[in-house]
Amino acid sequence: MTSRYSRRQLRGLGIVATGRRITRTSDSTFQVKSQSGVGFYWVRTHAGKFSCECADYQKVGKHCKHIFAVEFSHKLPAILEMNSGALSTAPYPQVERPLPRPRMKVTRPSLVKYD
Ligand SMILES: [Zn+2]
Repeated sequence: MTSRYSRRQLRGLGIVATGRRITRTSDSTFQVKSQSGVGFYWVRTHAGKFSCECADYQKVGKHCKHIFAVEFSHKLPAILEMNSGALSTAPYPQVERPLPRPRMKVTRPSLVKYD
C-alpha cells in the first residue's frame, strides 16, 4: 500500500523527524517550534478540531504543517506498530554482531624457580 502525502503533511513529518519541537502544554494546547528555530506556534484542539496561529492556517483555514506535526506525533506509536512487519524486513543495515574476539596466543610467562 502506498499513500501520498501532501506537501504540508511532509513538512509536518519533517518537524516530527527533527525531534524535540513539540511540547504538550495542556490537554488541548501544543507548542510547536518554528522550523527557523525562532519562536513557536500554538496549536490548539477544540472539540476534536485543530487550529493553529500561524499565517498559513489563518489564511487557508486547513491543516498546516504544525497541526500535521502534532497529529503525526500522536499517531507515531500506532504507525510504527502497524508497520512493524515492514520494519523488520526493511533494508536497513542490521545491527552487526560484535566481531568475535581475536584469538590471541596467550603466552604464559615461564615459571621461574628460585632456589
Ligand atoms: Zn501552523
